Amino acid sequence: MTDAKHTSPRRRRSWAEPYKIKVVEPLKMTTRAEREQAIAAAGYNTFLLRSEDVYIDLLTDSGTAAMSDYQWAGMMLGDEAYAGSKNFYNLEANIQKYYGYRYIVPTHQGRGAENILSQILIKPGDYIPGNMYFTTTRLHQELAGGTFVDVIIDEAHDAQSLHPFKGNIDLQKLTDLIERVGAERIPYISVAGTVNMAGGQPISMANLREVHQLAQTHGIRIILDATRAVENAYFIQQREEDYRNQAIATILHEFCSYTDGCTMSGKKDALVNIGGWLALNDYNLYEEARNLIVIYEGLHTYGGMAGRDMEAMARGIEESVKDDHIRARIGQVEYLGQKLLDWGIPIVVPIGGHAIYLDAKRFLPQIPQEQFPAQRLAAELYVEAGIRAMERGIVSAGRSKETGDNYYPDLELVRLTIPRRVYTQAHMDLTAEAVEEVYYNRDRLRGLKMIYEPKYLRFFQARFELL
Ligand SMILES: *Cc1c(COP(=O)(O)O)cnc(C)c1O
Repeated sequence: MTDAKHTSPRRRRSWAEPYKIKVVEPLKMTTRAEREQAIAAAGYNTFLLRSEDVYIDLLTDSGTAAMSDYQWAGMMLGDEAYAGSKNFYNLEANIQKYYGYRYIVPTHQGRGAENILSQILIKPGDYIPGNMYFTTTRLHQELAGGTFVDVIIDEAHDAQSLHPFKGNIDLQKLTDLIERVGAERIPYISVAGTVNMAGGQPISMANLREVHQLAQTHGIRIILDATRAVENAYFIQQREEDYRNQAIATILHEFCSYTDGCTMSGKKDALVNIGGWLALNDYNLYEEARNLIVIYEGLHTYGGMAGRDMEAMARGIEESVKDDHIRARIGQVEYLGQKLLDWGIPIVVPIGGHAIYLDAKRFLPQIPQEQFPAQRLAAELYVEAGIRAMERGIVSAGRSKETGDNYYPDLELVRLTIPRRVYTQAHMDLTAEAVEEVYYNRDRLRGLKMIYEPKYLRFFQARFELL
């Protein structure tokens, strides 16, 4: 806390993490030679590394958060009754309080909720418009017989566009779809905030309000992917004039009020290692969800979670909406990103909520896309400093089902994803310096050859050799 009166006008005061460390998890330090051997043994695929050989693990922010003492204390209060666990009622109360939805069904994680929702709402031949797809969300929509239609604004597909809300929905694209297929073929609009696949980019309150108005006139529901809605609320507070002085919790509540329900992966915003939920405001839909949940997840008062895990998530929600927490969480991502920008290293801008994306096309222009520049860059970062990142480019994009040809996505990226409350500023400094070192030596890097290609989601298990 700084007292404005005593702050020198010349200097911005630093802020630090709003927590201190009580338990530590030692990390193994490896040598460069050991890392060269490990990445070769892993076929130059960071998914195939053993986590104990990794120093700073930036593979994903999913289920990788550090829980607080308050959450761990809650774990000891797990009520493991099969039915009616008190932890369920605590979780339900907190979702109602902070997200504002009426009826809640817990699920084992986000995709469990997506499965139930898609089965309830989607009929074969339906269309589901959304602000860019997410892998599991779209797959469940398709498995239920629907067709996903991307209605995000064009700026979202441009790594250099500085639009402050690249997650916004293009109302014209949405209107065109409604006119083309008819409102009765659109069971709901699938809105995500922030948009993971666009680089953690937010949607504005003004845009969601307009989408809500349009949806109302056509009698179409809106279902929110609330996985990173707290992070989205932070961007609204920072970038939307009317919300500058509002608390994150207040913004989140208003944001959700423009939607009819949500699916949620608690492994992101809600600061737990496992868990999720489906929330709905319509009692009849909730009835159906409660019926289906017993087939796929478990009874409607645990839905695939242990009582202790529900308690940890209930408490994680409370912590996640604290302004100090979210400022430090996104502040850490911005700190890393700003360092790289200052050093002239090509990344996706604006900096998003949960990760920094290196632009491998500009980083390694000498490597053609069919020689996997982002895959190569991710492997090199590991060799340089034991940092594990993830490819999001041609390997992840896969092949066309029809022709068997590779997709050549515009974005060829390496994602450095920051887990919540896990690493310190020194880890961010070390990460930035490692990226800079690789950038300095970039000219000597050559591409890769794929020597093993799995049939599905090849990025998880493909193997490569140095060219
Ligand atoms: C992670 C994620 C999901 C899926 O959640 P899981 O808990 O991994 O099943 C859905 N949507 C978004 C935006 C996500 O990031």
